[in-house]
Amino acid sequence: MLLTLTLQGEHASRLSFLVAKHPDRCQSFDTGFGKAHVFYPECSESISTIALLLEVDSLGIVKTQHRNGGPPLLSHYVNDRAYTANSFLSVALSKVFGSALNGKCREFPELAETPLPLTATLSAIPSRSGEAFFEELFSPLGYEIETELIPLDENFPAWGEGHLYQLTLSKTTTLCELLRQLYILVPVLDNQKHYWIGKEEAEKLLEKAGNWLPEHPLKEAIVGRYLRYRRRLMNEALLRLAPETEEDEETTTDEPEERIEKPIRLHDQRLEVATTILKEHAAHRILDLGCGEGRLIERLLTKPYVHEIAGFDVCTRSLAKAERRLRLDRRPEKIREKLSLRQGALTYRDPRQRGYDAACAIEVIEHIDEERLPAFADALFGYAAPQTIIITTPNAEYNNCYEWLPAGNFRHRDHRFEWTREEFENWSQGICETYGYQVTFTQIGDEDETHGGPSQMAVFTKHL
Ligand code: SAH
Repeated sequence: MLLTLTLQGEHASRLSFLVAKHPDRCQSFDTGFGKAHVFYPECSESISTIALLLEVDSLGIVKTQHRNGGPPLLSHYVNDRAYTANSFLSVALSKVFGSALNGKCREFPELAETPLPLTATLSAIPSRSGEAFFEELFSPLGYEIETELIPLDENFPAWGEGHLYQLTLSKTTTLCELLRQLYILVPVLDNQKHYWIGKEEAEKLLEKAGNWLPEHPLKEAIVGRYLRYRRRLMNEALLRLAPETEEDEETTTDEPEERIEKPIRLHDQRLEVATTILKEHAAHRILDLGCGEGRLIERLLTKPYVHEIAGFDVCTRSLAKAERRLRLDRRPEKIREKLSLRQGALTYRDPRQRGYDAACAIEVIEHIDEERLPAFADALFGYAAPQTIIITTPNAEYNNCYEWLPAGNFRHRDHRFEWTREEFENWSQGICETYGYQVTFTQIGDEDETHGGPSQMAVFTKHL
């Protein structure tokens, strides 16, 4: 993982003072995840570039993370964390460029506050929502942006293009602002969680982004991704990031607390996260498998990016309820046309499920007998095979946090099993290996530090 920072113009050679790193030395720093090396590919009167190269110790991470846990998965060893920019880079920025990140420079304090012609280049950074997302994130902040899509493998053009880009950002700004915006927006682009997200993460967001995020048009999306959709942290951060106007001051007397405290139902959180992910994955034709009474459909039906939804459920009574809930008879033709509700069992290949962009199975798999799961997987991942598949299921570990639930019981009498995070991850990883998908995991709901979130989500994307 490589970041370079370049300063051009009359102060170029002072870059080394701004970052407090000697231009003639190559230095290495220990980080919690490996080593950060700093060196200058060039340093002259007119142009200076400093490089931050991260060497991620994947084996070391596996060892520390799994000292008390279960066996590590293949994906813990084999992944792109060492090569593509992610939250490790933010950790390294604060470790290596701490004073610059705080806007300090001992030798030239006024230079730290002066906007300078700076350029940052990230050698590889993911954007699963495509190139346009870079524009949406960085243009409102005044950056000039250059991107170059990195092919999966130059020798095999047929493999396609992947989702990694080389990104170059240029702007006349203070080094502090540039570093802070990278600190927040790199993990936002990567959109994966590599460590526990708690209150400190929300504090970091407010500290680093307090003066530029309130006006950003993608404020909600940035906060959501940065805090991994943890609803309570998001609400609080958004409230504190709200631009302070006189009007706000007058009307916020006792409302904010109420807004923070108001519990958002767990199920609503699942549906909300699923809806956001579908949008991010540009899913226009969507399957809702085990749609029940149509709660997810209700959210999706009026979204302009959703062109077609098919809800499947084995239970005709649920389908009838869905039809009533969705008040189809009162909807305009354009909306009604988008939807079909169909009866079917998810454990059989069904030609009606082919040709969709995405499928959701929200709190469904735990209703299927465990020995029938291979048949479910075959029908969904092997046969219907949409590009994106979102699956949620309860996290059994979290049951310890429910005082009303006797130890060893399931949350619902129709549940055939409830999985720990590891069990869910193992199953998902097996699916990926069999059917050619890759997967990321998210906890849904307020997480307990020991037991995780009440619900867990896997987002699968098919290898291109
Ligand atoms: N996804 C819905 C409902 C979850 S409840 C929601 O978000 O609210 C689980 C649903 O899965 C029930 O409606 C049940 O009828 C359906 N279901 C369970 N096993 C199924 C199977 N083998 N085939 C099809 N549907 C099934």
